[in-house]
Amino acid sequence: MFSISKIEKTKVYRKEPKMPRYSDELIDEIRNSNDIVDVISQYVNLKRSGRNFFGLCPFHNEKSPSFAVSPDKQIFHCFGCGVGGNVFHFVSKIEGIGFKETVEMLANKANITLPTIDNEQDNKTAYIKSRVYEINKQAAQFYHENLYKPTAKIAQEYIKKRKLDNNTLKTFLIGYSCNFNELYKFLKQQGFTDEEVLASTLVNRNDKGEFIDRFRKRLMFPIQDERGRVIAFGGRILEDSQIKDPLRPQAKYINSSENIVYSKGRHLFGLYAAKKQKLDKILIVEGYMDAISLHQRGITNVVASLGTALTEAQGRLLRKNSEQIIIGYDSDGAGQAATMRGLEILQNLGCDIRILQIEGAKDPDEYILKYGPERLQKCIDNAISLVEYKVKILKNNLNLEHPNDKIKFLTEIAKEIAKIGSDIEKEVYVDKIALDYKISKEAIYAEINKLLYQKSPNDKSTQRRNIVKHETVSHLKLNNDNVTKKENMIIYLLINYPNESYNLLKEKIKYEDIKDIRNKQIIKKLYEELEKGNIINNTNVLDLFEDEDIINFLTWVMAYDFEIVEVDKCIDDILSNYEKDKLISMRNEIVQTLDNMDNLTQEEIASLEQSLSEIIIKLAKMK
Ligand SMILES: [Zn+2]
Repeated sequence: MFSISKIEKTKVYRKEPKMPRYSDELIDEIRNSNDIVDVISQYVNLKRSGRNFFGLCPFHNEKSPSFAVSPDKQIFHCFGCGVGGNVFHFVSKIEGIGFKETVEMLANKANITLPTIDNEQDNKTAYIKSRVYEINKQAAQFYHENLYKPTAKIAQEYIKKRKLDNNTLKTFLIGYSCNFNELYKFLKQQGFTDEEVLASTLVNRNDKGEFIDRFRKRLMFPIQDERGRVIAFGGRILEDSQIKDPLRPQAKYINSSENIVYSKGRHLFGLYAAKKQKLDKILIVEGYMDAISLHQRGITNVVASLGTALTEAQGRLLRKNSEQIIIGYDSDGAGQAATMRGLEILQNLGCDIRILQIEGAKDPDEYILKYGPERLQKCIDNAISLVEYKVKILKNNLNLEHPNDKIKFLTEIAKEIAKIGSDIEKEVYVDKIALDYKISKEAIYAEINKLLYQKSPNDKSTQRRNIVKHETVSHLKLNNDNVTKKENMIIYLLINYPNESYNLLKEKIKYEDIKDIRNKQIIKKLYEELEKGNIINNTNVLDLFEDEDIINFLTWVMAYDFEIVEVDKCIDDILSNYEKDKLISMRNEIVQTLDNMDNLTQEEIASLEQSLSEIIIKLAKMK
């Protein structure tokens, strides 16, 4: 067994209340820039196994790995000694440093400059930042209202052509920018200073010292961050003459310049709107219009990568929000190149990647307009895996009738399959490829084994041990009673499926009824936060707690696989279980009271017996 006594108990990661704190968004930025797998890999040798990574726990002595790191949830948990937490907890624990130092260390690693707290200049920066958020918010509203004015006829026609409805215009706050300096004049009326307006980059000053709006006569798409704050804009040209203007040809799309609240490549258009639902998978498309058009037609789990190729920061943002990412870029050459780059980034981040395959249209927007949302949904459901996609590309570039090409095909495919962690998955692909391309399975396996053996024979065996270990360990930990497990599941549901579970659960299960003391504390806090309308997810939930034992315990619940297939059914089960438990304890109480009949009147006995038979009938029906 694990020697628990060897755990080094360092008291760390406290949000010391007296210490001036860094802003939540800064903490988020640092967290997002320090992927937990990358950070922990610098201290622990991690091997992938299924969704998670495993290694030897640095906090207790062990010979086989029970230390798990989840890239999806950005947490770690040791099934041996029970420690757990997020990237801050890990660094703080392993370096033996406090929260402030941990933040500084991780910020430094990610090249993020921290404000020196209590410094006058930084206070000013923070103030300007808040003003720029306010400017963006008001500008979005200003542009949006413009859209409905007679002067915006050209934009209205475009919207009609693209069949966007009013609901969509409101959801995405689509707008129209006027000419010259109309936004500037509006912002000045609202009391913003020139310095603040220039900081937003929505207005520029020319050589003559005049203030000119950056976006003029364009269809405006506000870009929101994950929390719904407007941080930048994209503007689409509406008059073709503007593009062809011989003196000043203009780009079809322009975006806000980088500024105090916006840096390129760190955000995804539409993520805030998409996040209103639980995201099992996210479809990523190229342009604003693709995302908006799909959203309007009921496919709401869609984001756009804002014109640029996918960046690593965007990849992390995607992975943080969903387990499966589907790439739906255009089918042209540029789109395919973007797909390949995106694949590489997402693969390195350990995402479950699929690639959308559509035929008869160049992009998802055109497809949905031509064939309707049901057919596009079908394509999304049938999006192909990375291996299948690479096989497809290979096949297109090779002539399999030629023996040489066939050999090349075989080696390349073996390379891809060798990368797959799960043996079962490997087998599925080998079977499929053998069948589709008339290659013998043995030949494919021989090629794969050659690659695996060349790489490192030990590597493979450790990997296999890891998988086995992982299974035994979770089995061990299952050894807690049913009530506690049910309570753990409530926590899991509240974190992973708050929209589906919260209202139902809080109505039937009061936190006072929770038996386990740690479960009770956690559920109480989660109820409070959800009641306030706060968003809870795997990334931020640990921030709600300061007690180290609670954090260790909570990461165990988060890392545990409850094997939930249908959420609704699972909630139903829990509720009816609780109902049943409640009835049983009521029944026991009545039976006990009836045992002391001497103190009861005839009417009381009759009424109790009546209740008892009702309860018994209810219970019988439940079984
Ligand atoms: Zn451990």
